[in-house]
Amino acid sequence: MQRLSIVLDPRNDESATGFLLRSFARNRTRAMTVFNALQIPWQPDLHHAALPMLSELADVDLHWLQSRTPVQTVESRQLWSWRGRVWRGHQTVRPTGMRICPACIHEFGYCRLEWDLGFYAACPLHRSLLVNHCGACGRAVRWHRPSTDVCACKRVFSRTPAIDMSAMSISWLTWVASSLSSDADVDLPTDLRSVFPPHLSIDAMWRTIHAFGARPVTASEGDCGLRDESTEHADLFSITERGLFRLRALADGDNIRDSVHASALRLMCTRGISAMDRRWALQLVSRMGIPYKTSNDTKVYDAQRELFE
Ligand SMILES: [Zn+2]
Ligand SMILES: [Zn+2]
Repeated sequence: MQRLSIVLDPRNDESATGFLLRSFARNRTRAMTVFNALQIPWQPDLHHAALPMLSELADVDLHWLQSRTPVQTVESRQLWSWRGRVWRGHQTVRPTGMRICPACIHEFGYCRLEWDLGFYAACPLHRSLLVNHCGACGRAVRWHRPSTDVCACKRVFSRTPAIDMSAMSISWLTWVASSLSSDADVDLPTDLRSVFPPHLSIDAMWRTIHAFGARPVTASEGDCGLRDESTEHADLFSITERGLFRLRALADGDNIRDSVHASALRLMCTRGISAMDRRWALQLVSRMGIPYKTSNDTKVYDAQRELFE
């Protein structure tokens, strides 16, 4: 098989689709042209079956591509493996649309790994929301676009204005990004250590933030500068801000039970990825006095039993 004539070096914190797009654009070709030439059936999501041929074509390590492309685990169709970790649900690691930070691409020239996470909504470096649509033509951002920074309409994606971001959100987003690009565990920064125990999966941390942040701002929280956002995309970031704010309040001893999405926490008691994740959810549920033995008795007892085995 022919190789691309210009071979690029992948970055450790670069996404698989972002690297392929960068390589194709540099060689003045497009993803769909490459897939047609290699007779790989075209799908909007990148699949593992296509990776051996693409690795040869772009002269990039196959394992590098595989570890950055989500795949269902053998244990369950609900669980996905990505970056050496397990995640629950297709939408967590394979968002239907891509998100990018145009300012990062302009500055560093490549697409970062963490943008592939469904919950990653803002760039802590540029303090702005990620972009999932072209501001000029309205098209969703796809990985098979002309170039990392160019939409199918041939216009360069425009930067978004800076937004207010709490120090905790910046900490969280920065820590997630460095954890994904590192093969070893990265220690939680102090402010996150005050709300999360060690060794939780990133999946469980996000589910906790979501359970705490999904409910709208209450009147007293409005006094603290928290706000709700109207659009779905910006709302994801607002959930992050509210969730971290309320977790901090819980750690400080406030009673925030009414602000929490109790059923999401109850679900994590049984469906958390690791025993540590489930134990953490059980701790939260009992600490806040959330009734959880009503709808799912047997399953919760199973999870509890596991704690003592
Ligand atoms: Zn950025
Ligand atoms: Zn466009």
